[in-house]
Amino acid sequence: MPELPELETIAFKLNDTMVGLEIDRVKVYNHIILYGTTVADFESLLPGHSFESFRADGKFLIATLSDGLEIVINPMLTGRIRVAKKPRRAIKEDAISLIIDERSLWYSDRKKMGRVYLVRDGNYSNVADYSGRGPSALDPDLTFDIFRTRIKRHNGQIKNVLRNQKFVKGIGNAYADEILLFAGVLPFRRRATLSQEEIEKLYTSMKKVLTKFKDILMKRPVNEIALEKRDFLMVHGKHKGICPLCGNRVSEVTSNRFKTNYCQTCQK
Ligand SMILES: [Zn+2]
Repeated sequence: MPELPELETIAFKLNDTMVGLEIDRVKVYNHIILYGTTVADFESLLPGHSFESFRADGKFLIATLSDGLEIVINPMLTGRIRVAKKPRRAIKEDAISLIIDERSLWYSDRKKMGRVYLVRDGNYSNVADYSGRGPSALDPDLTFDIFRTRIKRHNGQIKNVLRNQKFVKGIGNAYADEILLFAGVLPFRRRATLSQEEIEKLYTSMKKVLTKFKDILMKRPVNEIALEKRDFLMVHGKHKGICPLCGNRVSEVTSNRFKTNYCQTCQK
């Protein structure tokens, strides 16, 4: 599940290599992931347009094309972006390919839960879960004061607050666990029970953890990020492993198919 650090990194790398290039051909291999447009429209409208920019917007990746067109991707659990330097055949997971000169840009999705939209003239009304979101977790304008004010509007377990895109956008299940370990706060704590000091630790660790992961990802090519080998995680997915902060065992709770990992020693 790509989160903000992955998507910002992918956007940066595609900006570096794809901007100004014109799309030659488009092929949709699986229509299930396509929303707000038909396969015929998607395949016929895009050729001839060039890439103007790529950006991460929370858990969405947005490619802006010439003439007010945008491709908006919400990769959900298993959506992946890859690039190929030479033409290649589609494999089972592939959903869309954009052929650009000798290169190609691929969207694949093993579980077909992701969504790809064609947006015209900045009208995002068809894009599910797009409007009403909070500021990006890595937005430099998101100060501690703004964070503290915003978090008061959200109740319930603190992990769910962090993952709530209406609070801040870009944090998913894995990185929420990492942020909470670093902040020393148990994921099940109710937001209202957190002290001022704990809210401050949460803010600092959100910025630190996401920035650190992004720095690591920036050293990897786009196709390696697609493998989602998150070997830099401290606690998420490390059930019965060793907490790198204290050396004790990592605990795990599964709820609603989502795993939560935490350290009973480091987190209160
Ligand atoms: Zn620990």
